[in-house]
Amino acid sequence: MENYIKFNKIGEGSYGKVYKGLNKFNNELVAIKKIRFHNDDEGYASFALREISLLLEIKHPNIVTLVDMVPKINKLYLIFEYMLIDLKKYLKLLLEDEFISQSLLRSYLYQISSAVDYLHRSRIMHRDIKPRNMLIDDKGVLKVADLGMARVYKNTPHKYSPKISTLYYKAPELLLGQETYDCSVDIWAIGCTFAEMATKNVLFKGSSHINQILVIFRTLGAPTEDIWPGVTTLPHFLSEWEVESTIELTSLSGNINDQGIDLIKKMITYNPASRILAKDILKHQYFDGFNPEALYYYTES
Ligand code: ADP
Ligand code: MG
Repeated sequence: MENYIKFNKIGEGSYGKVYKGLNKFNNELVAIKKIRFHNDDEGYASFALREISLLLEIKHPNIVTLVDMVPKINKLYLIFEYMLIDLKKYLKLLLEDEFISQSLLRSYLYQISSAVDYLHRSRIMHRDIKPRNMLIDDKGVLKVADLGMARVYKNTPHKYSPKISTLYYKAPELLLGQETYDCSVDIWAIGCTFAEMATKNVLFKGSSHINQILVIFRTLGAPTEDIWPGVTTLPHFLSEWEVESTIELTSLSGNINDQGIDLIKKMITYNPASRILAKDILKHQYFDGFNPEALYYYTES
């Protein structure tokens, strides 16, 4: 770690602390993620190795770059390019009547979706898309971070661990206990992140696993066999949950335009098989007239 000066702690998550740092040789700011290995905890090590092996293969302008790795006894430092702040912290810093502008909102959603489209084309599910894992700078650039939960997606239906992602951003098939799932869990989470960027409020804020399901059902209405064949046979589905939608998504219309509302509905679609694909998000009319090339002008200057 001789090459780096370690400053203040900027984050703490599931398996490591993150510090702001400086590369002494090129004077560039970095983020230093410290991962400790315990003798008795192989789980930790396998998570870290999974993240590293994926990061080494990934290269995209909207995914945070791993620039170096420094192994030490019982710990490993991952060195990332430094970003100013994560989106959750940023939203909290806005004044009460202050919101992300419509153009920045559209740009952020485009950048998240481009990163996720790239991951899905590389057969990787991120599995923890949420504002806290979206990093931004002061020039309008957004990068997806934290591949700690990510994993390679198999072609054939495969049982993955249901213990993924943060409750508020969990897709209904995970909450209802469906054994197999796919990349579409990321799309549900993008929809939740989109709404939160626009309104500064969590879209589906459940207080427990069961409550999370209820909060979603109260907003969208309970799913039926018509729209999602097989849903009523899922392990955690209860028939007394046949609640009518009472809230609807109209509460979002003050912050998101009509095309945006149409897009969000396609992302938070119950049936995973009907949910919009990342590549089709990028082609949605919400982005008509949006020039993704313009994004990278400011970064080059
Ligand atoms: P965890 O798996 O512990 O959640 P993350 O990679 O998500 O680890 O990092 C935790 C937090 O640290 C992030 O939510 C963010 O606030 C901060 N952070 C992580 N990487 C960077 C970075 N490259 N630049 C700036 N802040 C970062
Ligand atoms: Mg994280």
